[in-house]
Amino acid sequence: MAEQTIIVIDAGTTSVRAILFSIAGQSLGSAQRAITQYYPAPGEVEHDAEEIWQASLACTLEMVALAGGAGRVAAIGITNQRETTVFWDKSSGEPLARAIVWQDRRMCDAFAWARSHGQQDAIQRTTGLLLDPYFSANKMRWALDNWPQVAAAGDRLAIGTVDSWILWKLTGGVHATDASNASRTMLMAIDGAGEWDSGLCDLFGVTPTALPTICDSCGTFGMARADLLGFEVPVTAMIGDQQSATIGQACLDVGQTKATYGTGAFVLSCSGTTRLHSQHRLLSTVLMQVDGVRSYALEGSVFAAGSLIQWLRDGLGIIARSDESEGLARSVPDTGGVVCIPALAGLGAPWWAAEARGALTGLSFASTKAHVVRAALEAQAHQTLDLKTAFAADGVDWTMLRIDGGMSANDWIAQDLADVLNVPVERPDYVETTALGAAILAAAGAGLYPDVPSAAQAMRGGVAEFTPAMVAGVRAARITAWDAAMRRVIAAA
Ligand code: ADP
Repeated sequence: MAEQTIIVIDAGTTSVRAILFSIAGQSLGSAQRAITQYYPAPGEVEHDAEEIWQASLACTLEMVALAGGAGRVAAIGITNQRETTVFWDKSSGEPLARAIVWQDRRMCDAFAWARSHGQQDAIQRTTGLLLDPYFSANKMRWALDNWPQVAAAGDRLAIGTVDSWILWKLTGGVHATDASNASRTMLMAIDGAGEWDSGLCDLFGVTPTALPTICDSCGTFGMARADLLGFEVPVTAMIGDQQSATIGQACLDVGQTKATYGTGAFVLSCSGTTRLHSQHRLLSTVLMQVDGVRSYALEGSVFAAGSLIQWLRDGLGIIARSDESEGLARSVPDTGGVVCIPALAGLGAPWWAAEARGALTGLSFASTKAHVVRAALEAQAHQTLDLKTAFAADGVDWTMLRIDGGMSANDWIAQDLADVLNVPVERPDYVETTALGAAILAAAGAGLYPDVPSAAQAMRGGVAEFTPAMVAGVRAARITAWDAAMRRVIAAA
């Protein structure tokens, strides 16, 4: 047991990594390969599926060597960039075309039809998703319409998200996915029987026989081939990356919420076994499926988080490094009335104002760069509070917030989040929560722990805690000033 390890393959958008974990959840090492981004035309983003596979295999083999051989690896877990769609030939196992990446904006005719014929509400009721080209069904149909070799493959055609593709290659032909990844295709009825929805498959003209079987997120998906790794190893977890981070943060009870502050901010709240119907353009998505029981999450994102700090650095040039922002914010007692609305690329959830543009309000001759930087940092807590309000109105109020991502290293922001949200904020010592989530599921799936919560409890390391401490009047005044500035930005959009 002491020698047993878990390998997680984290197939992200810009790179693929493999991480070796001990059963106790410690990271023992990792390997990484960059993935080439292809931009065939404006708005189009593709990956070479073979490169993703080769990178996954190379990184996995490095971790097998580090473990001392595949015989010491108890299980493999896969987490992945979601929605990205791969097309391959079932008989040769070779890709038929480039993979279409989640950021790709190409729209198929069926998608355009659904949009112009008012299908948004019906699709949202079935899938929990908003009608947007980034989900997989639109990409599948586009490829069938435009790439003759995909349409001509007939019964040999396999379509899947990146998790399925890696599983097929690792096992030599198992075609399966997990419910969290399936829920991002726009073809799964997320609170139905947990299968592909025939009405949506018809709408997008995708034959279910090309699609993977939808499985639990943990359990045995298949055996990774001995001729690849030197020893057969069970693949016991597959999970979409944001769901994986939510599990890595042990947000498994209703109201427990994680926020990843990178370029933008991705927020997921566990809603337990209740699938919610958002009235605020949030997504309802499968968090995971275990023993046939699905749990759900509400998901929202804001466009500008770390990118606002990058703009202070590279656009305005008022800081030289992102982490300077913390000292500057602390150097003044408040923003002196300055409010920053970071709508530099429009506003995402819950405002959804694509035309809105950013604003700095309340400037006076007394305003210094420290006030502006502090206002930009304060904007993080206020944007998050607006999301919290929308989540609560949709039926899941936050009991706490667990943060990760590059920006979460800023202690001032972490404390300000606790103060403004008025809930405790936790930041794990081990911030690679996406990989850890898949390791937790893989350990539970391999029977190394009795269930997912006990695996999460055992494998999650220490945390730093930030407790709400702001005087109520100060908090109320900040929220009032933010709301007033936000109203002006939206009115001007
Ligand atoms: P991504 O995964 O989206 O590339 P990361 O999780 O690596 O992003 O986070 C990097 C972002 O966090 C950058 O936009 C950077 O400006 C911001 N950032 C990093 N450190 C700090 C800090 N100490 N204070 C504020 N922002 C920071």
